[in-house]
Amino acid sequence: MTQSLYLDSVNGIVNDAKTIFQNPISITDRNTLPADWNYKMNSWYKIKDIVSIFVDIRWSTKLSATLHEKSTASIYELFTGTAIKIFHEMWAEYIDVKWDGVFALFSANKIYTALSSAITFKTFAQRTFKVLIDKKFEWKNIDIWFHMWIDQKTVLVKQIWLKDSDRRDRRKNEVWAWKPVNMSAKLASLSNDWELIVSDRFFKNLWKEELILKSCWCCNEKETGEKVDLWEEVDLSQNDKFDFDKAYMLKSMWCSTHWKEWCQKIIQLDNK
Ligand SMILES: [Zn+2]
Repeated sequence: MTQSLYLDSVNGIVNDAKTIFQNPISITDRNTLPADWNYKMNSWYKIKDIVSIFVDIRWSTKLSATLHEKSTASIYELFTGTAIKIFHEMWAEYIDVKWDGVFALFSANKIYTALSSAITFKTFAQRTFKVLIDKKFEWKNIDIWFHMWIDQKTVLVKQIWLKDSDRRDRRKNEVWAWKPVNMSAKLASLSNDWELIVSDRFFKNLWKEELILKSCWCCNEKETGEKVDLWEEVDLSQNDKFDFDKAYMLKSMWCSTHWKEWCQKIIQLDNK
């Protein structure tokens, strides 16, 4: 008999894991995210074309050294705290925080709602967050920026949890068989820092709508009264860090005159 490498308690876990691994895995197909994440999944779910929004904040390491911890905490509170609240308010079906980055997930039938919430957060980041930070830390000449991207992909997810000795669920969490977190670092190599980047597999699902593609008449740098293209194509075919060839970059935010009309009209496209 080979000697165990583990404590007795761990040995049991390893033996169970071997058995589970040999057994067939059950996967349930779904078109939408579960309405209630407290209801426990008993199998893996394969959820079609989930829209994921990811935002995170970046600043220079030089800055971290000069900021007091209260200042650091207040920046995270303003950015991460507000991101969670905005995505929640704008119908995100799943929100999670990984370190300082926020994920918001939407089902495939909510692509326009997802886009609307992303533009809303982008507007907050540029119009409010950046302005408040610049003002408060003016003397530090703060170098701070954010990344935001949207992707759409069919994803596997399962809940893992443990029971404690009182049979209560502990450490319950979702395991996503997918790595959006890596995208942040990848995007840093190509994105201009205050812009929204979306993958072509998300963009192709909304490209037909003029509301999405063109500005309103008043949002035109040249003030010619024409509608202008809002998205810029980014070629990634030479970049093997990505599993798609093209991305699109949105430079604009909500127009200060027409934002409400635009936001509502875009969300309504999900009901078409
Ligand atoms: Zn306008």
